Amino acid sequence: MHIPTLIERKRDGHALTAGEIRFLIDGFTVGSVSEAQMAALAMAIFFQGMNGDETAALTRSMLESGSVFHWPEGTPPKVDKHSTGGIGDKVSLVLAPLLACEGLWVPMVSGRGLGITGGTLDKLEAIPGFRTNLDFAEARTQLEKVGCFISGQTSALCPADKKLYALRDVTGTVPSRPLIVASIMSKKLAESLDALVLDVKFGSGAFMKTRSEALLLAESMRAAGEAMGVSVSHRLTPMDEPLGHAVGNALEVAECLATLQGEGPRDLVALTLDLAAELSALSREQLATRLSDGTAWKKFIALVEAQGGDAALLDRYDGIHPAPVVRDFLAPESGTLHRLDAGIVGHAALELGAGRARAEDAVDFAVGFDHIRKVREPVVRGEPILRIHARDEASADQASMALRKGITIR
Ligand code: URA
Repeated sequence: MHIPTLIERKRDGHALTAGEIRFLIDGFTVGSVSEAQMAALAMAIFFQGMNGDETAALTRSMLESGSVFHWPEGTPPKVDKHSTGGIGDKVSLVLAPLLACEGLWVPMVSGRGLGITGGTLDKLEAIPGFRTNLDFAEARTQLEKVGCFISGQTSALCPADKKLYALRDVTGTVPSRPLIVASIMSKKLAESLDALVLDVKFGSGAFMKTRSEALLLAESMRAAGEAMGVSVSHRLTPMDEPLGHAVGNALEVAECLATLQGEGPRDLVALTLDLAAELSALSREQLATRLSDGTAWKKFIALVEAQGGDAALLDRYDGIHPAPVVRDFLAPESGTLHRLDAGIVGHAALELGAGRARAEDAVDFAVGFDHIRKVREPVVRGEPILRIHARDEASADQASMALRKGITIR
């Protein structure tokens, strides 16, 4: 096969065959397809798209570029969820132990934050000692012992995706539906799941701005998953205000600890229970009991201990990452909180240092926002709408200025 001819075919809007896609992805993984050629192909895909068969073939080729998990016969059903990312979305930290309490296995391969979207691994690393780089053998042993793990993509898992995602990041080709679908689904399918639930966000704080875009992405991911024999369901979730009351790594961990002990914010608990009910045979009410009776909390402690985290610190976690500057952001007038824009809060958190603009940046665990009020609540002039945690006064000032544009009171 002639690589430039294949790129030209995609550039001119023709479909590639599964064999051609496999040839290109395998070649890119080993280096016989150059970065320049793959960048051109990614841009051609960005403009011309891919049909369902091409997207499924791309997903399969990326999945088979590395190793996948193999589970012994007769082990419990393997389930997971994927969220397309949002502001304050900390569901994974609660969902994995909750499902493991029910005897399901949750082999959760998660990612880091990029741009305004936070990442599960960054949040977990805000627990001192927590390791997010388990190898296949460690992950499997932990699954047998605890019923869940949350870890990052190893170099053996979907190496084609790792390389291609880095290339897309610097060539303006991240927001392409078939590339997103293949990237996300290849990693999830490498977990060899029985069932997957997708939480596809839409709104100001999400990748997809409208419900219809989110639906197209969800349908496309479902089709790619089902082409590989995995049962995939989805939920479309608005992301116009942050989820819960906290945004920022350690602040979100603190909110998860409360949620796992039955004291979670209503929206976070509701979403977690909806996703958990989708994956298990239990009702939301039965699952809610696990959050209030200490079962999910004990499972989370077991998860933290198994991955090297200092579980003894969890009881006094609030003091672990103190930010030097903590100040209230006050309501400029009285009325009803009409808008608290998730995108603007996400950008402000990124500017504080809670997120990373480039994949290689470090994150600051301590900074972010908490005590965030919810839309539709009454607010009184001069009373706090949220609390800013910052490294210094200047960045707290900058966050305040940014937030003013994201808040409407009527
Ligand atoms: N997350 C991924 O892993 N891949 C994408 O393409 C987008 C988000």
